Order: sequence, then structure tokens, then C-alpha cells
Amino acid sequence: MSSHPVAIFWFRRDLRFEDNCGLSHALKGDLPVLPLFIFDTNILDDLEEKKDARVMFLHDTLRAMRDQLKEQGSSLLVKHGNPQEVWKEILKAYEVRAVYTNHDYEPYARERDHAIEKLLTQSQIPFHTYKDQVIFEKEEILTKSGGPYKVFTPYKRAWLRQLEDAMLDAYASGLSSGRWYQTKSLPLPSLKDLGFERADIEIPPNRIDEEVIRHYQKKRDYPAQDGTTRLGVHLRHGTLSIRRLAQKAKEINATYLNELIWREFYMQVLYHHPQVVDTAFKPNYDRIPWRNNEDEFQRWCEGKTGFPIVDAGMRELNQNGYMHNRVRMITASFLTKNLLIDWRWGEAYFGSKLLDYELANNNGGWQWAAGSGVDAQPYFRIFNPNAQRKKFDGGEEYIKKWIPEYGTDQYPKPMVVHQEARDRAISVYKKALGR
Ligand SMILES: Cc1cc2nc3c(=O)[nH]c(=O)nc-3n(C[C@H](O)[C@H](O)[C@H](O)COP(=O)(O)OP(=O)(O)OC[C@H]3O[C@@H](n4cnc5c(N)ncnc54)[C@H](O)[C@@H]3O)c2cc1C
Repeated sequence: MSSHPVAIFWFRRDLRFEDNCGLSHALKGDLPVLPLFIFDTNILDDLEEKKDARVMFLHDTLRAMRDQLKEQGSSLLVKHGNPQEVWKEILKAYEVRAVYTNHDYEPYARERDHAIEKLLTQSQIPFHTYKDQVIFEKEEILTKSGGPYKVFTPYKRAWLRQLEDAMLDAYASGLSSGRWYQTKSLPLPSLKDLGFERADIEIPPNRIDEEVIRHYQKKRDYPAQDGTTRLGVHLRHGTLSIRRLAQKAKEINATYLNELIWREFYMQVLYHHPQVVDTAFKPNYDRIPWRNNEDEFQRWCEGKTGFPIVDAGMRELNQNGYMHNRVRMITASFLTKNLLIDWRWGEAYFGSKLLDYELANNNGGWQWAAGSGVDAQPYFRIFNPNAQRKKFDGGEEYIKKWIPEYGTDQYPKPMVVHQEARDRAISVYKKALGR
């Protein structure tokens, strides 16, 4: 065991030294801080694709952080395993006096943290946890009757009413604090050690483009334009501070801030109703007899439905790990309504591909499209993919970019007749919901 007492800061989805709430508290304490990251096998083992760009991104980010810490005479402890086992090892190897981390609201993470807290408590080690990835968390925004909101607009109003400028102030920067545990460079497992390889996907830059935010509402609905910030992956992994982004949004554009509030809305839905991970938020929607045709699902996944806006979106997702928000809505509506395939299938597929995959937002988006979620699209509102294409990709720039064979005999014929599929969906939904 190392004979120096340390405090550990456990990085999870907050991979930055700047404006990191839990880290700034750890560095204010009396003990030198040893930073830790665990590649969690409970999560990694579920990833089928070995060229997973998200794992590559995490690995690259951690290497860069370790190099920055090296300049401070410190390093980053990176472990690979089941967190409970890893923590037992750490407690044997170091004289740990305190552990600091930031909150994570996903059901698995809450369970994991609860187990680690128990383990630490057995050794009388305090576990200090902080809010970092949202502006408002847990019970901070509630209705007058004390419950969580189920409709976005009143939630948003309450969110804006409660927002104070100081909440967006940055926490003290951590890197040059001089409070790091001094050690020689610690080994970082290679991607190969983790069972992964580099992916061929480019990660969007971690840069707030003020021009994009300024013109957001004019451009954000057109998938051929670079009208959105592409910051989802950085919010997901905390390589960007939500306070910094929300501050910019507040200064520049209320419509953009609105989207950041949607993110918190869905996070509080997941926190208060963790059952949405497996079941419809409105339980009667679990009575829908999904057709779940596997061949049709495959065509949807591959972008071969014969509906160009759907196919372009799916191919963008497959190739780049990204899909434009408007197209996410269209493809999700197509799967759940036109094909009557369970939203959980689509959700899992998006989850396996999206660089910005976020359980709360993905589940929220899918249940919105299926009609089963909080403040969802009504079940009888079904996007017409051709009308959507004309409206949002009138110049066909987006579809031509992603479907090289568009307009030739090679491109498949539409797999359903939209009007018939629409009527079928409405009738199945109506019957199941008893309308
Ligand atoms: C079926 C479906 C699945 C989705 N899955 C995800 C997901 O896994 N992860 C994810 O972050 N978003 C998801 N979204 C929401 C949205 O499509 C993406 O956040 C957005 O397209 C990401 O691109 P961007 O970073 O350029 O966003 P921008 O338009 O620049 O918005 C900035 C940020 O605001 C938040 N945001 C924007 N729109 C929404 C929204 N509708 N709901 C919640 N937060 C939003 C995101 O954090 C986003 O990065 C999904 C939407 C649908 C309809």
C-alpha cells in the first residue's frame, strides 16, 4: 500500500479539468488528489461493435488528460473492470481518506454508486458527491403540488424562473491547482487491452460556435445545413461544461437554451421514473401489438426502406454515428408507426450507433415518437416522410449526399404505401388504447 493518504476524484461523465464541480471541491481539501477513471466492464461488455467510436473518444480524452497531469507531476489512474472489484483493489493499494465524484442519474449508475458508497462507508471513507452535469437536478424543479413535471412548457418556465446568474458561474479550474497526488506516469490500458479498436469516425470538435447558436432557429431543421452545434457527444462525456454552454445560450439565443432545457427535462423524467427504460411512460401503450417484422427492421437499419429521407438518415447514422434531430424524429416515427415496430428496438439501435447517445434523451425521443412518453407526439400524428423531405430537404441535397444510387434502378421501391401504413397504425393504436 502507498503510505501517503490521498483523496480520490472519480471521473465518469465529466472528463475535464475546467469548471468541474466535484473536482474543484476535491482540490480544495487538505489531501493530495489522485484522479481515477474506470472502464466499466458492465458497460463495455454490452458493446458489440469493437470499433466503437465512443470508446475510442474516451480513450483519446483520457490519454490527453493523463499527459496534462504529467506536466503537474501527477498522473491518472485508469482501471478496467467491475467497479466494485476495482474499488476493493484501490482500497488495498492506497490509503484513501476521501472520495469525490459528480452525480450520475441513470438507473445503473445510481445502483453502482450506492454499492460503492456502502463499500467506502465500511472503511469509514466519506463519499462526497456533487451536481455537475445539469443546472437543475433531482427535486430542484417540482410542480406546486411537489411532484415532477410531466409537460415540458411549464417545466421550462419553472426552470427559467429559478435560474440565477450565479448558477452558471464556472468552478475554479483544477489543472494548475498544485493539489495533485505526485506520482510517476501510471500506465493507461491500450484500446486493444480493453477489447476495442480505433473507429473510422471523426468526433465533432469541442468548440462552441456562436454563429451556429445565433442562427439556430433559422437553420436547425434542415439536415443538409450545419445548423446545429454537434456538441451532444461533449455534453454526454462532460468534455464540455453545461454551465459554460448554457451561459452562452442565455446570452445569445433563447431557442437554443430551450433545447438544453429539453435535455434536463428528459433527465428528470428518467430520474423520477426510471421504469421508462423498459416500459412505456403511459402504461397503456405497452398494450400495442407491435408487428416486429425482423426483415422490415433490417431494411430500416440499413437505410433501404425506399423512403429517401428515412434512408439518408439511417445511412448517416451508420456511417457517422450521428443523425440530424429532424431526421431522428422522422425515422423514429416511420419505425414505430409506419412499420409498427416496438420503439425499444429502434432505441437500442440508435443506442448502439449514436456518438451522442444519452439514455435519457434517446428514451425520451423514442417514446415521444411512439406517443407513449411524457408530453409525446399524439398517436394519430404520423409524419409523412415524403412531405417532410420536401419541406426540409427541398433541394435534395441531404438525400443525395447519403444515397448515391438515389434516382436509379438500384434504389429500392417504397416498402409500404404511406397512406395505408398510416391508416393501419391509427387503427392498431386506437384499438390497443381503447379509443
Ligand atoms: C428518436 C430520438 C432519439 C434521440 N437520441 C438522443 C440521444 O441519444 N442523445 C442526445 O443527446 N439527444 C438525442 N436526441 C435529441 C436530439 O436529436 C439530439 O440531441 C441532437 O440532434 C444532437 O445534435 P446536436 O448536438 O447538434 O444538437 P443541438 O441542436 O446543437 O442541441 C444542443 C444540445 O441540446 C440538447 N438537445 C437538443 N435537442 C434535444 C432534444 N430534442 N431532446 C433532448 N435534448 C436535446 C442535446 O444535448 C444537444 O447536444 C434524440 C431525438 C430523437 C427524436
